[in-house]
Amino acid sequence: MAETENRPSNFIRNIIDADLAAGKHKTTHTRFPPEPNGFLHIGHAKSIVLNFGIAQDYNGLCNLRFDDTNPEKEDIDYVNAIKEDVNWLGFKWDGDICYSSNYFDQLFGYAEELINKGLAYVEFSSQEKIREMRGSLKLPGQNSPYRETSPEENLKLFHEMRDGKFKEGECCLRAKIDMASSFICMRDPVIYRIRFVNHHQTGDKWCIYPMYDFTHCISDALENITHSLCTLEFQDNRRLYDWVLDNISIESRPHQYEFSRLNLEYTLMSKRKLNTLVTDGHVEGWNDPRMPTIAGLKRRGYTPGSVTEFCKRIGVTKVDNMVEMGMLEACIREDLNEAAPRALAVVDPIKLVIENLPDGHVEWIDAPNHPNKEEMGTRKVPFSKEIYIEREDFRESANKKYKRLVIDKEVRLRNAYFVKAVRFDQDEEGNVTTVYCEYDPTTLGKLPADGRKAKGVIHWVSASEGVEAEIRDYDRLFTVPNPAAEEDFTTVLNPESLVIRKGYIEPSLLNAEAQQGYQFERLGYYCFDGKTNDEGKMIFNKTVGLRDSWGNGDK
Ligand code: ATP
Ligand code: MG
Repeated sequence: MAETENRPSNFIRNIIDADLAAGKHKTTHTRFPPEPNGFLHIGHAKSIVLNFGIAQDYNGLCNLRFDDTNPEKEDIDYVNAIKEDVNWLGFKWDGDICYSSNYFDQLFGYAEELINKGLAYVEFSSQEKIREMRGSLKLPGQNSPYRETSPEENLKLFHEMRDGKFKEGECCLRAKIDMASSFICMRDPVIYRIRFVNHHQTGDKWCIYPMYDFTHCISDALENITHSLCTLEFQDNRRLYDWVLDNISIESRPHQYEFSRLNLEYTLMSKRKLNTLVTDGHVEGWNDPRMPTIAGLKRRGYTPGSVTEFCKRIGVTKVDNMVEMGMLEACIREDLNEAAPRALAVVDPIKLVIENLPDGHVEWIDAPNHPNKEEMGTRKVPFSKEIYIEREDFRESANKKYKRLVIDKEVRLRNAYFVKAVRFDQDEEGNVTTVYCEYDPTTLGKLPADGRKAKGVIHWVSASEGVEAEIRDYDRLFTVPNPAAEEDFTTVLNPESLVIRKGYIEPSLLNAEAQQGYQFERLGYYCFDGKTNDEGKMIFNKTVGLRDSWGNGDK
């Protein structure tokens, strides 16, 4: 049961299997609990695939719950973006969307229960003082002077907090646990604080908001979550999770299990830091194709299948590590190699004039959309007297290793004819501007009768029928593998992470749909951005490079 073809087993699935076998639960109920304070990133995809994947494979349920206890940082736009991203990845949550804020009334009631039991108190010390009294890993904390206030008095004060009688920061509610605990999170953690801010779900109903550690476990219990999966940094907080549930009257009893976060080289995995990149204008927005966000990956041309495949390959463990970008890229490359139609584009053009064609000649050639998938059909590609080829595909002279166009030598134009270069023009700086050649009309789709071989195959686009486009090539966003370790990660941004070029595309690409991936032959995988630039030219984003190269010229 645990291991399916699509999803290998892991320690969490082993725990679930044991729980089900022991009759502890009849089924599974997981949840994905993002805070709506930014767009989701690929790290969240790992959690989504884990939580929703368990529901799919065990016939269980999975909730989408917004953990929305921090209204200053949150926004309804993030709520909507997150919903869209979860859907795009191919997952459906069970029932209505949940919000921790739906439970504010119940949470308030549980806080009252703790107060009545003498397990929570209203604290009037300053934040600084609270920090000081908390102690350190070496030093135990000190009891607050407010720790012994009576439950009646605390209840009255807590109600006054709710009724707006105190200023922000003037007081807060703390759980009364153990100031000498070796787990700092157990040293009378704050569970409610005052914030006079409007909440995207509850408006101005509340001026006190519960803290994450108090909210999360209760939300899990109220939703009958069986296995509450979170990342390793909450390991210590599991004590607090259990303490809260042990001390309130609630029947359901979820358990928290921690797994390691996904870290990806050369990028960041934190909504807060990604937000800085957006607000400081280092990227175009949350969906900039260089961003590790789901929205960025989507715009870059990643498919949902490639992202979920990546999550499957990285697995779920308790070991912190850094995953190479190449692993993510391999997933989309494999996907597109199978599924992406081929197309011709030239990104650094020089002109090639075919002298033995009449002026104005245009001929529409059938070109296969995929080299080994006939079922993907063909398209018409215009071949004309003047075409563009890549600057790097021509040299005046070269040795045998250079499998491209050289004076007096022949190459095949992809899907078209053999051409032989005869001469070329240069500008004043010595840059080649135009190459003149002759084509062999007997070589369309076949080798010449005399058995001549071409040096190689090069791609091309008709100069008269091709369409100008903006080609965006992307590189890693940061120059160091772990930008999060820098004091200021904005100092290690890669200034060359985006290179914009003017290129030419074959006209069939005018019908490209947004994010549909193509293999621009010999260049890489690209997708239409969905937008045009200021000059009305279609923008194409590079998804990932190719690794393979071609043989020597029989097509
Ligand atoms: P961020 O710092 O990016 O905001 P977070 O953990 O604070 O991350 P949440 O919105 O609270 O973000 O996370 C929702 C869920 O996604 C949590 O269960 C969290 O543990 C998980 N998650 C977040 N980042 C990662 C990651 N890099 N790898 C795996 N799971 C993650
Ligand atoms: Mg967070």
